[in-house]
Amino acid sequence: MKILQSLQELIFPVRCLGCSALGIEICSQCRRFWHPRIIRTASRLSPHFPIYSSIPYSPVAGRVLLAAKENGISSADKLLTDALTFALTYCLDETLATFIVPIPSRKEVARMRGRQFIAVIATDAGEFTSTPIHELLTHVRKVKDQSTLNAKSRSINLDGALISRRFVGGNAVLIDDLVTTGATLHEAARALRARGITVAAAVTACVAEPLR
Ligand SMILES: [Zn+2]
Repeated sequence: MKILQSLQELIFPVRCLGCSALGIEICSQCRRFWHPRIIRTASRLSPHFPIYSSIPYSPVAGRVLLAAKENGISSADKLLTDALTFALTYCLDETLATFIVPIPSRKEVARMRGRQFIAVIATDAGEFTSTPIHELLTHVRKVKDQSTLNAKSRSINLDGALISRRFVGGNAVLIDDLVTTGATLHEAARALRARGITVAAAVTACVAEPLR
């Protein structure tokens, strides 16, 4: 999979991840929509913890996310890792977070992609910031794909969907690619707290306008 990908990148000319223009992996037009900055969201759901992101969601951001997640394109992975690392640096500076917990994909999704995508990019961001990563969470039951669900259906869909292993020492920072309603982060935080683990914050590469 990885070898095929590298071969493809050798054989085919580089195209912009945002608009497919020939040339570099992200053109100057699209770069305006993928320019890391710090965005702090106070989560509206309780219990509260701050969410740090660095890219506002846009059609360009959506295509970069898809290229990384569904197609495993390494230049897209790199853009996501950079965005995550940027937000994580602020988060580590401003909160008591000491270790990373990545949000797991559903098992069938991870199988299809051939990897636990968030864990991979979270590990890279963790290395840049010297933050240990612990994959504590797993899905305990089937959940629907969230993309078409509204805020309320998302939280019903996810309620009780995750379970955490036990872990002692430190405060967790949750890591995901995108935050929309916050339902996933809150389910993850619930599962960790059920094991007595403190959640200091969450970090996501992208942030979307919350759905109603
Ligand atoms: Zn472009």
